[in-house]
Amino acid sequence: METFNTANKSLIKDMNTSTILQIVRTKGPISRAEISKITGLNPATVSSNTAGLMELGLVRETGIGVSSGGRKPLLLELNPEAYYVVGVDMGTTDVAVGITDLEGHIRCKSTLPFGGASEPEEIMGIIGQAIRNVLDASEIAAERILGIGMGIHGLVDPDRGISLFAPAFQWKNVEVAQLFSEQFGLPVSIDNDARAMALGEKWFGKAQSVSNFFFLNIGTGIGSGIYLNGELLKGAHFGAGEIGHIRIASHQEKPCFCGKTDCLSTAASGPALEDIARTAVHRGMAPLLAQLSNGEPDVITGELIHQAALQGDEFSIGLLDQAGRHIGGALSLVINLLNPEMVLIGGGVANGGDFIFQGIREEVANRSMQHNIEHIYIGPAGLGDDCGIIGAATLILRSVFSNPNQYNT
Ligand SMILES: [Zn+2]
Repeated sequence: METFNTANKSLIKDMNTSTILQIVRTKGPISRAEISKITGLNPATVSSNTAGLMELGLVRETGIGVSSGGRKPLLLELNPEAYYVVGVDMGTTDVAVGITDLEGHIRCKSTLPFGGASEPEEIMGIIGQAIRNVLDASEIAAERILGIGMGIHGLVDPDRGISLFAPAFQWKNVEVAQLFSEQFGLPVSIDNDARAMALGEKWFGKAQSVSNFFFLNIGTGIGSGIYLNGELLKGAHFGAGEIGHIRIASHQEKPCFCGKTDCLSTAASGPALEDIARTAVHRGMAPLLAQLSNGEPDVITGELIHQAALQGDEFSIGLLDQAGRHIGGALSLVINLLNPEMVLIGGGVANGGDFIFQGIREEVANRSMQHNIEHIYIGPAGLGDDCGIIGAATLILRSVFSNPNQYNT
């Protein structure tokens, strides 16, 4: 039987290994002596732990560092292509799957449309196919794939791997992680899509050196990921960050899918903007949009609205500006409440550029406490359109780096 002491020793070893691996990842190339200095671990412990990491292939020796007298030390760095992970960005109309290395670089990716499917079995079948396609195309040996991370819209219980509620498909309590884990024989980690994106920005995007930031995803829905003191918030029942359902004064005709009215989502999400634009075309209020869509309002997309705005269309400029102001108003609540040092905005609507961002910034400036906006950065996410895939992949990377020994099989 394992004694308390050996169990404890193994736990401490895991923690040391994880700490060292994180330092090599974020500060490498770095010498063992420097690691020892930063961590306070004695040189023998650093040495034995790095040996373990090299055996796993996660860390390799590279170049020669500066000597502080005596022999020049070999430096250690992460071996980013030793292993790969799968990132699945489950949208509402399609799924994007990518394979990334340990530094979040996408090696290959592909997208499959859902084609109107909404039943869990159908959607899971299409996602499974998309994962197989990418794994086949990558030609990476199966034993070098560490796991599958997945970002899913709506409410997600990452601890049990369950999609609690996905509004676009109206499904409840789907055991996503278990299904794919059995199908692919790999660890599967899932979370809310915006939360996964925030994690991706923390590891590989603009927020790497920031402990308090807010990630806002504005796509078919509006969600967010909240980092406070370096921790990603989930909430008591995984509902933290549902900013899309903050009530704003917009007086929309349609209720929100959540059952309430005048949610931010009904005024500023991609589908909401398309809806408002279509109605305007029907009513003859947006002549340039009518022209660009050849009189077929159904083909109006967020991109087309942006295009019309670029061509000086007053209706489209006003629509994007109004959306920006609604978003800015909601953000000012967040900024006053949480005092983040950075607000990153991702998702399709963020591609609206200054037409959106000007309204956001002005409204934030008008409504937030001056102290809280003096040093704030508000801008587009660093990982762009790949944020969803990289964020999802990072769900697995986080698990690898927090306990690399679990992969020592
Ligand atoms: Zn709502």
